[in-house]
Amino acid sequence: MAMDRKPEWLKIKLLTGENYHELKKMMRSKTLHTVCEEARCPNIYECWSNRTATFMILGDICTRACRFCAVKTGLPTELDLAEPERVAEAVEQMGLRHAVVTSVARDDLKDGGASIFAETIRAIRRRNPFTTVEVLIPDFQGNWDALKIVMDARPDILNHNIETVRRLTDRVRAKATYDRSLELLRRAKEMQPDIPTKSGIMVGVGETWEEILETMDDLRAAGVDILTIGQYLQPTKQHLKIERYYHPDEFAKLKEEGLKRGFKHVESGPLVRSSYHAHEQAESAKTA
Ligand code: SF4
Ligand code: SF4
Repeated sequence: MAMDRKPEWLKIKLLTGENYHELKKMMRSKTLHTVCEEARCPNIYECWSNRTATFMILGDICTRACRFCAVKTGLPTELDLAEPERVAEAVEQMGLRHAVVTSVARDDLKDGGASIFAETIRAIRRRNPFTTVEVLIPDFQGNWDALKIVMDARPDILNHNIETVRRLTDRVRAKATYDRSLELLRRAKEMQPDIPTKSGIMVGVGETWEEILETMDDLRAAGVDILTIGQYLQPTKQHLKIERYYHPDEFAKLKEEGLKRGFKHVESGPLVRSSYHAHEQAESAKTA
């Protein structure tokens, strides 16, 4: 299959409705960023109607430049201390059942932004006691004190994406290492054993089937409970090339392999993104 031609199962229309436009306006008025919008995520209609959204805090300029990612790279200047409260207000206005909070990598900050993550968790909780909060964090350059600041705020799910298999990590991710990501997940579990941990892989960047299974084993050895697997899609021609499209049947097979290995929940499909069906994952990790 020519890689510049998208297979049928990836061709979906961006559905939007009145509700969606209203929410969009609210985001702008609060100067908030969501990954849902910035990444033009195809699931936006479904997620927002299901009352799940992913906020991107700590600005929209990243200190790293991963080859698969469309976020702007540069030296951020802002540190917006009022942001946690605005996110909490937006969660309230959107009536979210599950809020995902992520950020760019802020290698310029001493704690990598951990204290803002923690404050955002607390602010959401204060206003929305019934909303579950998931944080999708960067590796904080291996600063485990920073990780502890986040874990002490007790998110409902701690998510950190390993993104790809060991062999391709250098090519795909900037500055991150495979082992450091595993260590982060292992330490998070050690710090708060009852908080479910989660990680994700994108496939289609040149990995082998065996390597995906190895990555699953490594994540399980680090105590990870929830796994997401999705198809890599190239944001622009300048980004990492797509090496292969996986068929929906292969995603189903990967889900089986994951469940066999003991993950409590596996979300695997062409359009699966880290936060897709995140609310259901939070529920099943709690009851598993
Ligand atoms: Fe937003 Fe994640 Fe849903 Fe995409 S999958 S719309 S980024 S919550
Ligand atoms: Fe994108 Fe995250 Fe890499 Fe920054 S660290 S370039 S936000 S994937």
